[in-house]
Formats: sequence, structure tokens, C-alpha cells
Amino acid sequence: AKQEGRNNYQFFTPEMNTRASHLLRLETELRDALEQRHFTLHYQPQIHLKTGKVRGFEALVRWNHPQHGMIPPLDFISVAEETGQIVELGYQVLEQACREIKQLRETSKQPYYVAVNLSPRQLRDPGLVHSIAQILERTGLPARKLELEITETALMEQIDQSLALLHDLEALGVTLSIDDFGTGYSSLSYLKQLPVHSLKIDRSFVQDIPADPDDMAIIAAVTAMAQKLNIEVVAEGLETEQQFHYLRYNHCTLVQGYFFSPPVPFDQLEETSIKIQQT
Ligand code: C2E
Ligand code: CA
Ligand code: CA
Ligand code: CA
Repeated sequence: AKQEGRNNYQFFTPEMNTRASHLLRLETELRDALEQRHFTLHYQPQIHLKTGKVRGFEALVRWNHPQHGMIPPLDFISVAEETGQIVELGYQVLEQACREIKQLRETSKQPYYVAVNLSPRQLRDPGLVHSIAQILERTGLPARKLELEITETALMEQIDQSLALLHDLEALGVTLSIDDFGTGYSSLSYLKQLPVHSLKIDRSFVQDIPADPDDMAIIAAVTAMAQKLNIEVVAEGLETEQQFHYLRYNHCTLVQGYFFSPPVPFDQLEETSIKIQQT
């Protein structure tokens, strides 16, 4: 009983109280932000290594807060995930991404796609497939030009439900990408059972090229096997010329990172893409 009492006491430490009230305030602020649509997207180009062309963009959400300015996703996505607000936020993100990239495809006359992140909580939303179908219809973006990024861990968490969901999404015509690849437990051989179009090698494997021979070996192995399985490989977090050469040497399909461009606001996207293709 004494032990229990102590634990209970520890649970209600001043820090916990502060954290709880912090979460509560954030939840309220998120609710307002969702109502007033204070979220905006930045886009980061993905460059095709063989041709040097920009093929598409990853949409990355920011909270445009009236007092605190631009808030990065790491400061609110996990809370939105915990409260379930990520479901509504996710639909706002999907709708904005599809609408803006549909517009850019028309003004630029380029066949761009957009990649959108889906969190584990969104995968459990029974209305997901239907809602995505409605968003595609409303915005007019062709389904095959929407790529959904799902993390390896989210996929493997409930693999049976995930499989059914992935097949429903595939039937809708959207493409699927495994995000943060290499940080979870899935084996490459397992991948061929999934309707997966591409996998994204996590930044943690890219950042230490050329210093870390283990990371380099992993990249070489992943790209070699993905090629045999006919799956595209996207490397994220590309920052240096040496990394660029190593990834090209290993036949990585696409790269994304500060070396070419940080994520930029929509109104700078066309200019940014043109500049990348001229270098
Ligand atoms: P992620 O999906 O792994 O996205 C890549 C992150 O790496 C982005 O951070 C991007 O800005 C950053 N990055 C890109 N190139 C480089 C580089 O060369 N060097 C370094 N150091 N970083 C680079 P960001 O925008 O802060 O997003 C962080 C995470 O938040 C994302 O990681 C993703 O998990 C999550 N996220 C962002 N937008 C959304 C969204 O709309 N929905 C959901 N569910 N999650 C999102
Ligand atoms: Ca991602
Ligand atoms: Ca990542
Ligand atoms: Ca490392």
C-alpha cells in the first residue's frame, strides 16, 4: 500500500500537472486552429536522379499560429494523434495538397504528383478510403498523382487490417509509399506481398554518408533489392554532394533534401522547381 501510495504521489507531481494542462491547452488551441483553418502546407521537391527532373513533392504541414508564428509539425502532430484531432487535420491536409498540386499541374503543365503523410490514427479511421475518394473527386487531382506515405511501424502494427486497407487504397488508384524505411522491423521480402510503389529510406541512414560504412551498406542492399522487386527508392534528408553521388551510384530512384531545396511555401514551388532543373 505504501508502494502504491508513493506511485500515486509520483503521478501527480507538479511537472505532470503542468504537462497535463499544457496538453489540454494545446488541444483547445488545435480545435480553434482546425475551425479557422490555420494550417498551411510547405512542399519539398523530389528529384528523379536519372533525369534531374522534379517529379513531385512531399506536403509537410505547418501551423500558422496568430501569436506564435509558424509552428513545426513535431510540436503538435503527436498531440493531435493522441487526441484524435489528427483525423480532421489529416483531411484538411489532404484536401489542400490535392487542390494546390492540381493547380500547379495546370499552370506548369508538368505531370507532378504529391505525397501526403498519413499517421497511424488515420489508418484506423473507417471513413478513410471513402473520404480520400471524395477529396479526389472534389479537387480533380487524378488518383495516381496522390501518393500516401505510411510509416513502416504504422503498417506493421496491425498488419492484417493494414493489408486490407492497402488493397482498398490501391483499388482507388492512389499510390503507396513506406515512410521512414529501415527504422522498423519489416523485411524486404515481406514487401512484395504489399501493393507498395516506393519506399523512403529514412534520413538517419543518409546523414552519415560517407562516414558510416554500415549505413552505406544498408543503402546499397535496400536499393539493390528494391530494384529487383520493382519498387522505387526515395532517399530523404539529402544534404551533401557526396551523399548525392553515393545515392546515384546505387541507383536510388528519387532524392529529397536540403541539398536541392528545403520545404517551401506553395507560392514559391514553381520557381524552386524550375531552378532545380536548371542546375
Ligand atoms: P517525415 O515524413 O520524415 O518528413 C521529413 C522531414 O525531414 C521534414 O520535417 C523535412 O522538412 C525534413 N527534411 C527534409 N530534408 C531535410 C534535410 O536535408 N535535412 C534535414 N535535417 N531535414 C530534412 P518536418 O516538415 O518538420 O516534418 C517532420 C515530421 O512531421 C515528418 O517527418 C512527418 O512525420 C510529420 N508530418 C509532417 N507533415 C505531416 C502531415 O501532414 N501529417 C502527418 N501525419 N505527419 C506530418
Ligand atoms: Ca514523410
Ligand atoms: Ca523520416
Ligand atoms: Ca548512423
